[in-house]
Amino acid sequence: MRSGFAALIGQPNVGKSTLLNRLVGEKISIVSRRAQTTRNRILGVVTRKEAQIAFWDTPGIHQPSNALTRYMLKLALRSFEESELIVWMVDATNPSLAKTKQMLSRMQAASKPTLLLMNKTDLVAKPSLLPLMDECSKLHAFAGIIPVSALTGDGIEEFWKALVALCPEGEALFPEDTFANQTELQLAEEFIREQTLRLCRQEIPYSTAVRVEHFDESNRVLSDTRGKNTQGLVRIEASIYVEREGQKAIVIGKQGQMLKKIGTAARLSMERMLNARVYLGLRVKVEPRWSNSVEGLKRMGYVSGE
Ligand code: GDP
Ligand code: MG
Repeated sequence: MRSGFAALIGQPNVGKSTLLNRLVGEKISIVSRRAQTTRNRILGVVTRKEAQIAFWDTPGIHQPSNALTRYMLKLALRSFEESELIVWMVDATNPSLAKTKQMLSRMQAASKPTLLLMNKTDLVAKPSLLPLMDECSKLHAFAGIIPVSALTGDGIEEFWKALVALCPEGEALFPEDTFANQTELQLAEEFIREQTLRLCRQEIPYSTAVRVEHFDESNRVLSDTRGKNTQGLVRIEASIYVEREGQKAIVIGKQGQMLKKIGTAARLSMERMLNARVYLGLRVKVEPRWSNSVEGLKRMGYVSGE
């Protein structure tokens, strides 16, 4: 058996979360058209007969502009250091290779086997792909350049085989049923955040945070009269944090309609995940400029006391 950690790195929106969701087969990270919605270092673990590979889904390395983006950069660099393998993903429809200088020099310094994934090949004509792959092969001594579509699944098995071949031998690091290092509570937060960003579209910035304040699973599993376990109820209370009053009004919507929609959609995902009915209480709070300070990040649970 082989096992190892792989850093999944690339600019926002190239399709990292989509790839990870496809490989892991569970909904573990936010997929959104908006950039930078992956806020934590979500580890997806893929376990198959031949290998177990754990992925860091990183938000991409970019120029930090405030406390939040500085923190994201730090996370990306850490996943670089802690991985045996690097998977660098590029959007074939918008490779913007000129912007990757900084990224490449970090890859060179790390000197770890690196696969280049050309994603979104379902959107580009085959003949334009070859010159792009050729251009990329001159940038770095990649262990392989693989065209894929994370959306349709094209090339994903080839990618997996190439990655396994580069992976060191070793026993599985995690139990077979591990798929993410996120706790259920964090996942519940992600579900709410995802629906807020999805339903409010352009009107809400990515610096929208969600905190679960109560997660009561004391009635999660109920026994019926014959002592057989049945689905119970999990009570979750959470707040959506925005930075301005105007944003609060948008999230709540006319007569609370928007908040209701967000709550219903998030609750359905939670019920699937928890295999229980869910009562979800949602509030919206204003926390001005929280994404500009480390204190703000701590309050939102981004940074622990480490
Ligand atoms: P991330 O920021 O790198 O994690 O990117 P996401 O996985 O969130 O994807 C960003 C957007 O690109 C989403 O709308 C995805 O549905 C879309 N996307 C990802 N992979 C593909 C692909 O292979 N083909 C197409 N057409 N769209 C893709
Ligand atoms: Mg992502």
